[in-house]
Amino acid sequence: MIYLDNAATTLRKPPQVAAAVMQAMEQLASPGRGGYPAAMAAADAVYGCRKLAAELLGARPEQVVFTMNATHGLNLAIKTLVEPGDRVVVSGFEHNAVMRPLHGLRARVTVAGRKLFDPEDTLRAMAEAIAAGPKAVICTHVSNVFGYRLPVEEIARLCRRHDVPLIVDAAQSAGTLPVSLEKWGAVFVAMPGHKGLYGPQGTGMLLCGRSVRPLLEGGTGSQSRCFAMPEELPDRGEAGTHNVPGICGLAAGLRFVLEQGTEEILRRERRLLEDFCCRLSAMEHVRCFTGPGQTGVLSLQVRGMDCEAAAEALARQDVAVRAGLHCAPLAHESAGTLGTGTVRLSLSALTTASELRQAAEAVARLKAEPAFQNLTG
Ligand code: PLP
Repeated sequence: MIYLDNAATTLRKPPQVAAAVMQAMEQLASPGRGGYPAAMAAADAVYGCRKLAAELLGARPEQVVFTMNATHGLNLAIKTLVEPGDRVVVSGFEHNAVMRPLHGLRARVTVAGRKLFDPEDTLRAMAEAIAAGPKAVICTHVSNVFGYRLPVEEIARLCRRHDVPLIVDAAQSAGTLPVSLEKWGAVFVAMPGHKGLYGPQGTGMLLCGRSVRPLLEGGTGSQSRCFAMPEELPDRGEAGTHNVPGICGLAAGLRFVLEQGTEEILRRERRLLEDFCCRLSAMEHVRCFTGPGQTGVLSLQVRGMDCEAAAEALARQDVAVRAGLHCAPLAHESAGTLGTGTVRLSLSALTTASELRQAAEAVARLKAEPAFQNLTG
């Protein structure tokens, strides 16, 4: 299978990730729950992962709260900062992991910057909306649909100037772009462990510039006499037994990213994607959504073919992609593709040039599909 759905999860991981998961399952108990060697070793392993994350993501180890995924981290962040009815500014490219919690809180949402691949427009709209003094700004670093890199550094500067708390959704950038809680001065940065950081599914992190309102309350292995959750991070955000095998796998993924370097990973993904788009540019039946600063995520449409039918036809050729709205209807609305959806291909550090060559050939063959011919008449 040619796997090009890395924006959903990186199915192919460096082999040391699975090895770390297995080793943790066989040897590690629960951190902070005992003074015997297997519990102490678990505590060391979990702290080791916090240190690696802190090194890569511009934070201190205690500012790293482990979560189940990016959605969990975003819920923690949003429900800490936003009260029902508050006014919140978001970009035009947010995922439902942001929009649904805001909807649930009945937040009054201002959408700022809807032009695809136009950071200047995003920044202009953000500047105006931030100056109005919202309760918080929430911005994705990279659109999961289009690979559009939003000007988060500049948005962070605006937020600092106006003293407005910023939440960054780094789901599609952690592992490929510089991410720094400290440099941005963001209040929260949420990310999955299972995409560009190559950890197992069921892992994620929330970097915290301030304390959180817990979503879950329970045992933390600390301050056990007290019925209230501890005030200190990371314990305040981490009730219950940790996903130790997942965290150990994530540590192996983080080590891989630190060794490769995010700059090199991005450079390689971009080069492969450019070659791929070049091949597709000769195909009249294909429209690619490309723009400056694009990461390794590409949306395309096959003229005269429904996007789900195109993705199914690619799956029959053993090319795994994702079609539809990608849990981001706002991004599709911004780009004018809400009615049709797109086919999304997304790369990882392990994608090869040969896989993309074969994927391009599979896209070329879509012209011969009955669904294509039916729609074009
Ligand atoms: N935010 C963005 C931009 C995403 O792409 C995704 C997942 O695709 C999420 C949030 C949610 O991530 P998770 O599935 O890890 O909760």
